[in-house]
Amino acid sequence: MQTLSEIRRLLSRAGLSPARQFGQNFLIDGNLLDKLLSLAEGDGRDIVLEVGPGTGSLTGELLSRFERVVAIEIDRGLYELLRDTLGDRTNLTLIHGDVLSSKHVINPQVVRAVEPAARLIANLPYGIATPLIVLCLKMTWRGLCRIDRMTFTIQQELADRLIASPGGGDYGPLSVLTGLLGRVTPGAPVPAGAFFPKPKVASRILRIDFDASRAARLADVDVLAKLLSLAFAQRRKQIGSILKRKRCPFPVEDLEAALDEAQIDLSLRAERIAPEQFRSAANSLRRSQDDSGGGVAQ
Ligand code: SAM
Repeated sequence: MQTLSEIRRLLSRAGLSPARQFGQNFLIDGNLLDKLLSLAEGDGRDIVLEVGPGTGSLTGELLSRFERVVAIEIDRGLYELLRDTLGDRTNLTLIHGDVLSSKHVINPQVVRAVEPAARLIANLPYGIATPLIVLCLKMTWRGLCRIDRMTFTIQQELADRLIASPGGGDYGPLSVLTGLLGRVTPGAPVPAGAFFPKPKVASRILRIDFDASRAARLADVDVLAKLLSLAFAQRRKQIGSILKRKRCPFPVEDLEAALDEAQIDLSLRAERIAPEQFRSAANSLRRSQDDSGGGVAQ
């Protein structure tokens, strides 16, 4: 792995400095990089997707362990640096661009490159970590791509939301979605000092395995997402209040029946409702839509 002085040298030789808008905090702690790789496990034959290879420190390790690595870097300067240093590696597919084509779509070049299935291993840029994790889960659920496992470092606050259980302030749509589609394994905490430059917040290593059998019990990921944003929009209010919400994406009678079928007490707050109850309510809403031949109102 690259040391701090090596990263500085690579950047200065290329006339670059860390760009905050791209979340460029480079991992300089070899021990933590080993922990990330050992939590990721994996078979050498796996295709690995690295989002944000930066100066290529983790990329070098991935290239020596896995048959194929797909790396996408948004920063043109870093992309050129990587092309110069790692461009001759035959098992590397290096892409210049944004991993997210939009908030709702993963870059199609990446989707094609990781076929038929891949594992994501990355020190994720803070700014896109949440939409990227959500999109990987949703697109895998839809069968549009297959990211079986994601192992990454993310900000501690996001890790807290991913592993939260009902009842706490961190529990929300992200915890429910992850709990219904995957299994989360927390890894080591990562202090801010493990990065150059030092970010303001601490991070954590975490792994999410997509759980196909769990995911198959969910009828429609979009209905679930709409129900969750409705339920958590006013998380301090009783869940029954969503039945009176003006801009409700579901017919009120369907929503009432769905909450009833899921045995959700209307006096509860959203933060006390278990993921399986949200799934039951979302599945019931989806059935009502099928029965009426309609879709979800936007
Ligand atoms: N992999 C390096 C490491 O482990 O030290 C760098 C990690 S740094 C936290 C995040 C990297 O993601 C930066 O290289 C940044 O330019 C890149 N990046 C930021 N936003 C991106 C995006 N939307 N798509 C692709 N790469 C992105």
